[in-house]
Amino acid sequence: MNNQPLSGKRYLVLGVANERSLAWAITQALAGAGAEVALTYVNEAIERRVRPLAAEVNSQVVLPCDVQSDESLDALFAELKSRWGTIDGVVHSVAYADKEDLGARFCKITRPGFRVALDVSAYSLIAVAGRAEPLMSANGGSIITLTYLGAQRVIPNYNVMGVAKAALEASVRYLAADLGLQRIRVNAISAGPIKTLAASGIPQFRELLAQFAVKAPLRRNITQDDVAQTALFYLSPASAGITGEITFVDCGYNVIGV
Ligand code: NAD
Repeated sequence: MNNQPLSGKRYLVLGVANERSLAWAITQALAGAGAEVALTYVNEAIERRVRPLAAEVNSQVVLPCDVQSDESLDALFAELKSRWGTIDGVVHSVAYADKEDLGARFCKITRPGFRVALDVSAYSLIAVAGRAEPLMSANGGSIITLTYLGAQRVIPNYNVMGVAKAALEASVRYLAADLGLQRIRVNAISAGPIKTLAASGIPQFRELLAQFAVKAPLRRNITQDDVAQTALFYLSPASAGITGEITFVDCGYNVIGV
């Protein structure tokens, strides 16, 4: 059996902030499968954490990218084109909402808060996919993003991020339809709750984790590796016939009614 199935393939990963990031687990899985990985950082503080992690997986390409800026996205893809020419896939693992728009009443979400959450967490997938398309070869490619059950059901304290994730999930379907002719697949993983930097902004997240482990059919919490292994499947030719899907990696939590 080939244990380097992605050898010779190149992936862009957006969203590594630290060693707890889902994007970091996915990066390690990609590198373990023989792929080359480019990482991005949104600011200097994140850059200081990302560079040593990049070195761990021998990643030679570490570039700035703020998904709220078209100039920043253009510069990222121009640099990738000049370094690599083509890419085989993209991991979009980016989200942000102001803390006050998570904890407050839903009907009090502010216009700026709504705008920033939707811009960073949903529009950015469209912005990234549109720029990735010309870098993908005739063999196409695979784009994945990360979503959460709060897109489809009401989860306390998820609020504006639930609406952003609903827009993200709809964007996955529209992008899949738009990019299918180029053999570019677009899928999302709906992960169960995991303690990360982004999750720390959600009030009472600890309680959510505790309830999850009791109620999920598999009676445990999700790990970064659970997510990474499914991501690897979606980023590899093993999933060549799948696009536009939202796949729950949540120990079965989403099937439970009460
Ligand atoms: P994380 O904090 O490690 O990752 C979030 C990333 O978004 C960070 O690297 C951050 O730098 C980046 N980011 C924020 N604003 C940005 C911007 N303007 N430009 C570029 N990058 C920006 O947390 P995580 O939990 O690994 O989150 C990754 C993804 O997984 C998110 O989309 C999140 O909603 C999703 N998700 C997380 C969970 C969970 O419980 N942790 C569950 C389901 C889905």
